[in-house]
Amino acid sequence: MSNKFSVLEFFKQFPDDDACLEHLMETRYGKQLVCPKCEKDSKFHRVTGRPVYACQYCGHHISPMAGTPFEKSRTPLQKWFYAVYLFTTSRHGVPAKELQRQLSVTYKTAWRMGHEIRKYMGEVDGDDGLSGHVEVDETYIGGRKKGVQFRGGHLGKTTVFGMVERGGKVITRIVPNRRSSTLTPHIVDNVASGATVSSDEWAAYKNLSREGFTHGACDHSNEEWVNGIHHTNTIEGFWSRVKTSIRGTHIHVSKKYLANYLVEFEYRYNMRTNPSLMFDRLLQSF
Ligand SMILES: [Zn+2]
Repeated sequence: MSNKFSVLEFFKQFPDDDACLEHLMETRYGKQLVCPKCEKDSKFHRVTGRPVYACQYCGHHISPMAGTPFEKSRTPLQKWFYAVYLFTTSRHGVPAKELQRQLSVTYKTAWRMGHEIRKYMGEVDGDDGLSGHVEVDETYIGGRKKGVQFRGGHLGKTTVFGMVERGGKVITRIVPNRRSSTLTPHIVDNVASGATVSSDEWAAYKNLSREGFTHGACDHSNEEWVNGIHHTNTIEGFWSRVKTSIRGTHIHVSKKYLANYLVEFEYRYNMRTNPSLMFDRLLQSF
């Protein structure tokens, strides 16, 4: 994806804060719009020295940063744009330390910027329903270092449930447990009725046929990894990518922020076929 939008191209397109503001104005409002005040079809011109544009007829001001995380931030717009660029071109996520280093901002600022950008990644992504052939699986993420034993086996870890359409999108949810009464409603809410659903042998999935799905399972406990068309390799591949990235780039992800990170991984996975659109889609979402 980076050969479509290289660092050099980024700085050519966004050499300074003014260029970023111009781009933000264009992606949010367009070059010409009906003025909300005088209601004329007007061209808006940049007001010198201020981050606003003025109506050519009545002088009404529009601020392209209004309602975005840039508005109240003291961090220059170009740094924000570069942070968005890093998020949309990275394969494994952008740790706050890395943002801090690349943008020359404090760790606290870098952490906040990352948090804001992930929030919008979730909004762009949305959660359209899945259909066709869907794989479902739960996993445990986070917790303490290896070797520290917990009573009950998975204390300290967060249970995450995932659904992925083969060749399509992934949806994840943080869940309190892996019971049928917890997982089934997520499947019913997000997967089209009549879709084919593949899972492992976990008892919580046994009732999926009764819910109107064509369900099939692999008995992983008996080392059955493929059962005809049924396997869970796609969702397991997604989990492994999430876990590797969290281990490699984020020292510790608390339960509180895990949802935020999952959104980022979902977004990246779901935009994988058109990564060049990620940057503008994200800016439009603000
Ligand atoms: Zn006007």
